[in-house]
Amino acid sequence: MKKIFFLILCLFISGCQIKQSHYTEKQQEILREEDVLEFAENNCEQVASLQLMLDEEAFQKGYIEDYCRMDLTSSSHVNFLLERGLSDEDVEGYSAIPYFREENLERYLKAEGSYEERVLNVNMNMDLKPFEMISIVNDFSDMTLLVNKFNALPEGYVPDDMVHVKYVCTQGIDYSCTMMDQVVLRQEAEEAFERFVESALEEKGIGIVAIAAYRSYQYQKDLYNYYLPIYGQERTDQFYARPGQSEHNSGLAVDITFDHIRYTDIENHEAYPWILENMHRFGFILRYPEDKQEITRYGYESWHLRYVGAEAAAIMYENNWCLEEYLARK
Ligand SMILES: [Zn+2]
Repeated sequence: MKKIFFLILCLFISGCQIKQSHYTEKQQEILREEDVLEFAENNCEQVASLQLMLDEEAFQKGYIEDYCRMDLTSSSHVNFLLERGLSDEDVEGYSAIPYFREENLERYLKAEGSYEERVLNVNMNMDLKPFEMISIVNDFSDMTLLVNKFNALPEGYVPDDMVHVKYVCTQGIDYSCTMMDQVVLRQEAEEAFERFVESALEEKGIGIVAIAAYRSYQYQKDLYNYYLPIYGQERTDQFYARPGQSEHNSGLAVDITFDHIRYTDIENHEAYPWILENMHRFGFILRYPEDKQEITRYGYESWHLRYVGAEAAAIMYENNWCLEEYLARK
């Protein structure tokens, strides 16, 4: 009699349901379909981790016990890491780093430091010697494309959107002006360079000019091959980019000078700090800063600017990141 009374009472009081589920209707549905709802309800210690995997559509039945044991903050790469038999700590650690790249896992495991340090350093190839591994650039629409000792432009690459640079040095007037060829940049970079030069004149009264911009693959190849037998590989690599690995080949780099002085002296000019503080507004960065030589693997160049677009340049400026540091977090 008592039993029946309680049952009737329970029909009216929702809190008296047999047991409330940890999971939403949708989550329950997936668990039920996979025949693991009971396990999930009764044996899952880290309910939040399982919920996360379910919500982000990364749930795999075979790993349910792992999810329920680990404290996951992101579902990214969790199955990949489990598949490779990593420890719970490693799975939790690596999956929490947003810029973890699956193809780099073996190298992360050999690196040192926190999970974040390992991922960042390897993403910047800090674990490799120059030229040890070369990737070929294939997305030319991306203004942040990377050309360095690990990333080369394809053989014979010529940008298809180059235009003449409006503000160029004049031989006999600008001390560093040695160029004989036409000075061209990719259109978007050229237009930004014009705005930059015009603003520098207006705001600071300095006359910036380009002394070198695009250089062809063939030019770099001839240059490199000319010095190779003279200096040997090591010294040639120190001073000259290999073909396809000069940023000037991208049509996005420009060497500058101003006020007719020698380009190597611009850093001592009173207007130079203005350039450092303002070029990001127009999408430019100093590509080889003095304090980033270990990362860029290039010596300091106060005159070599690179167009990356205003959005990326602002982020790099605000965080004091060089291009490699920016891209390692993408
Ligand atoms: Zn340069």
